[in-house]
Amino acid sequence: MENLDKIIALCKSRGFIFPGSEIYGGLANTWDYGPLGVELKNNIKAAWWQYFVRECKNSVGLDGGILMNPSVWVASGHVGGFSDPLMDCKACKTRHRADNLINNFQKTQKTKNPIDPDTLSVNQMEEFVATNKVPCPHCAKQDWTGIRQFNLMFKTNRGVVEDSASVVYLRPETAQSQFVNFTNLQRTSRLKIPFGVGQIGKAFRNEITPGNFTFRTIEFEQMEYQHFTTDEKSLDDYHMFKTKAMEFYIDRVGLRKENLRFKDHATLCHYAKAAVDAEFLFPFGFGEIGGTHHRGTHDLGSHQKCSCKSCEYVDPSTGDRFIPTVVESSHGCDRILLAVLCDAYNEEEIAKDDIRVVLKIKPSIAPYKVAVLPLQKKGLTNKSDELFAQLSKNFSTTYDDAGSIGKRYRRQDEIGTPFCVTIDYETLEDNAVTIRHRDSMKQERVKIKDLTTTIQKYLV
Ligand code: ATP
Repeated sequence: MENLDKIIALCKSRGFIFPGSEIYGGLANTWDYGPLGVELKNNIKAAWWQYFVRECKNSVGLDGGILMNPSVWVASGHVGGFSDPLMDCKACKTRHRADNLINNFQKTQKTKNPIDPDTLSVNQMEEFVATNKVPCPHCAKQDWTGIRQFNLMFKTNRGVVEDSASVVYLRPETAQSQFVNFTNLQRTSRLKIPFGVGQIGKAFRNEITPGNFTFRTIEFEQMEYQHFTTDEKSLDDYHMFKTKAMEFYIDRVGLRKENLRFKDHATLCHYAKAAVDAEFLFPFGFGEIGGTHHRGTHDLGSHQKCSCKSCEYVDPSTGDRFIPTVVESSHGCDRILLAVLCDAYNEEEIAKDDIRVVLKIKPSIAPYKVAVLPLQKKGLTNKSDELFAQLSKNFSTTYDDAGSIGKRYRRQDEIGTPFCVTIDYETLEDNAVTIRHRDSMKQERVKIKDLTTTIQKYLV
C-alpha cells in the first residue's frame, strides 16, 4: 500500500486528482480530476472509443441521458435487486458490506481455501460472520446486526413535489440507454445483426465502503459496449469480446500483461451463459477494472415486456423476428486510469541517493506528449513560443522555463511526459532542438522541420 499512498500524494501535488470539495472537509469517495487527470482520462476514453466504436464497421455510438424514466430501472431489475448486503456494528455504529467483511477476514486469517462470498446466500453470510466471530474492522467488537439489503441507486425528485410519482434515479450504469434505444439505433443506422453500440458516461452508486482512492467512488465513468447478436453466435462473440478487452488494456492503454488476469464470475445470473471480470493487480490486491458479460435476451426482453413496445429485430433476409442476445463489454474509466498510474509508477536510483520518480505511461495515453523547455529565458522565448505553437497543434504540449533543466526534466518525468524538447542558443543558428526521451533519458538532436514527424513516429 506504500506505493498507493505515494501515488495519491503525487496525484494531488502534480494536479492529477484532488479530493472532492476539499476546502469543506471533502465528501467521502468523491474526487476531482485536475489538469493532468482530465488529459489522461480523455486519452483513455478516446482510445476506447477508437478501438470499440470507430475501428469496427458494425459499431455506432450513443450519448444517453443520466436521468431516465424510472420504469427503466424497474424493468432492468435495479429497483428490486441492485443492492449491497450491509451489516451495522452495534458497538461503534459503522456500516459494512458483509461480502467485504468475509473476504477481508479470510485474507487476514490467511485462509487456505477461502470461500467466495458471492456464492453465499444472505443467511449463509450471517452464519459465516457469527460462527467465525468476524470482528468489526473499526472497533474490533463482534456485535453485528443482521444483513439488510441497501439499494445503491441515488434517488431524487423532479419538479417541485416530493412524492413517489416524482422520483427519478441517477443512472447506476450507462447500459440501459443502449437497450431502450435499440430500435432507434438499429433502424436509423440500418444495422444488421451482429452490431454493437458504445457509450461513455457517468454512472452513480451510493457505495458505502471505503474506496481505495478512485477504485470505488460514488460517481464514476463507464465505457460500455453492447453487442447485439444471435443466441447461436453469442458464445463465440463472448469469447471474442473477452479477448478484445485484454487487447485494449495491453495494446491501447499500455497495462502490463503480468498485472492483469481474468476471473470468471462465481455464480451466473439465470439468463447468462458466461461472465468474466478483468482484474488488475493494484497495490491493495487484484481488483475488477472491467467485465465481459453474456446477458442473453434478458435486457431487451424485459424492456419489451414492461414498455409493451417491440424490441425485436427482423432479419431482412428471412423475415424472422426475434429478441437479440446481448454480449456486454463494460469498463470503468476511473479504475483503468488508476491502473495506469499504478502500473507506470517507478522509482529509479540513477545515482547514489538520487531517486528519480517516473511515470512510464504509454506515450499515446500520457497527459502531455511534449514539454517545451528553453534552456535559458534570455533570447530564447520567441523561438520557444514559436515551437510551442507548432507542436501544440498536433500534441498536448506543456511549457516550462522555471528552474534548472535537470529539475525540469524530473518534473516532466513525474507526470509521465514522454518527450522533452530543449531549445538552446545553437537552435537559433542551426534550427535544431534536443529531444530527451523519458524512459531511456537519451537525447538526440533533431531539425525543427522534422520534429513533428519524429515525435509522431515515437507516439505509440
Ligand atoms: P464491483 O463488484 O467492484 O462493485 P461491479 O461488478 O458492480 O463492480 P459493473 O456493474 O460490472 O461493476 O460495472 C462495470 C465497471 O464499472 C466495473 O468493472 C468498474 O470498472 C466500474 N465501476 C463499478 N462500480 C464502480 C465504482 N463504485 N467506482 C468506480 N468504478 C466502478
